[in-house]
Amino acid sequence: MFKPKRVLFEPDSFDYQLGKELFELFTNMEGVEVRKLKSSRVTGVDSDNISEGYVEAKKTMVVAVRKSLKFQTCKPSAHYQLPLVSSCPGLCEYCYLQTTLGKRPYIKVYVNTDEILNQAQKYIEEREDITIFEGAATSDPLAVEPYTNSLRKAITYFGKERKARFRFVTKFTDVDTLLNVPHNNNTTFRFSLNTEKVIKEYEKGTANSTARIKAANKISQAGYPMGFLIAPIFLYDGWQEDYMSLLIKLKESLHPVPSLSFELITHRYTTRAKDNILEVFPQTNLPMDDSQRKLKFGQFGYTKYVYKKADYEKVEVFFRENIEKLFPKAQILYLV
Ligand code: SF4
Repeated sequence: MFKPKRVLFEPDSFDYQLGKELFELFTNMEGVEVRKLKSSRVTGVDSDNISEGYVEAKKTMVVAVRKSLKFQTCKPSAHYQLPLVSSCPGLCEYCYLQTTLGKRPYIKVYVNTDEILNQAQKYIEEREDITIFEGAATSDPLAVEPYTNSLRKAITYFGKERKARFRFVTKFTDVDTLLNVPHNNNTTFRFSLNTEKVIKEYEKGTANSTARIKAANKISQAGYPMGFLIAPIFLYDGWQEDYMSLLIKLKESLHPVPSLSFELITHRYTTRAKDNILEVFPQTNLPMDDSQRKLKFGQFGYTKYVYKKADYEKVEVFFRENIEKLFPKAQILYLV
């Protein structure tokens, strides 16, 4: 379980019950530095070295109040993001948050969960159809869940909502507090998976695939609709054998589930993310040769480098064929 090195409290976090409880909890936890900030600006986590500063930020939890209650849209997996947490303790070199969170990705946990869920209610009422919220668009919220119980609260809330669904994805395994929550099948729990090589090389600080599948089995036992994200998919020498081993391992270890979905995302990067990655992980061997990629215009105006059409088609054929063969009842929600 993740234990922060330091926990910093924004002044107005004490206006909320969760803020007070977290202060009590971490003040009594051995080896955790606890500080009250003078404003919402994080100070006192200094380092002249960019890599060290990044790693320190990933060990720093900031207990904060979510000021903006305007939710971002979230294609292709949902209608809106549900901002409960931002950033996470993982050190994935390719992390999609490199574009938005930059070089100091402090783990911010928001204590005004009631206000956030009230805002979700407003969005639900605006739409005729079912509204889907994504809880992991700006974070991996599971790593801090044992402290905040925010997912638990959100899952319970969505369990009572006829016109909304909730979903999030994780590379962590802290599922125990979520096993007996009245989810009412309205929350889809997804685990992110990748080949052993990708996890070892690029997903430092996260759980290995065996542990993630074990946690997935607990979640399916608890009756949640479940899915797997295979992401990011990298094409390297031997990628087909490695992804095949992953699919076979999943087939052999996963207990039977009533509903199963896959989301498939090929590797992509923005120029801003690439610049950050090269500064934060100067030794990285992430494949980011622009000449091997195709430019694509993405959400929020970012231009992304994605695999070229021929490579993308190889991925499509490979995964569609093999998922259909090994998991005939599963649905592939999208491949991008
Ligand atoms: S677990 Fe997800 S959010 Fe956390 S560093 Fe890895 S990719 Fe980024």
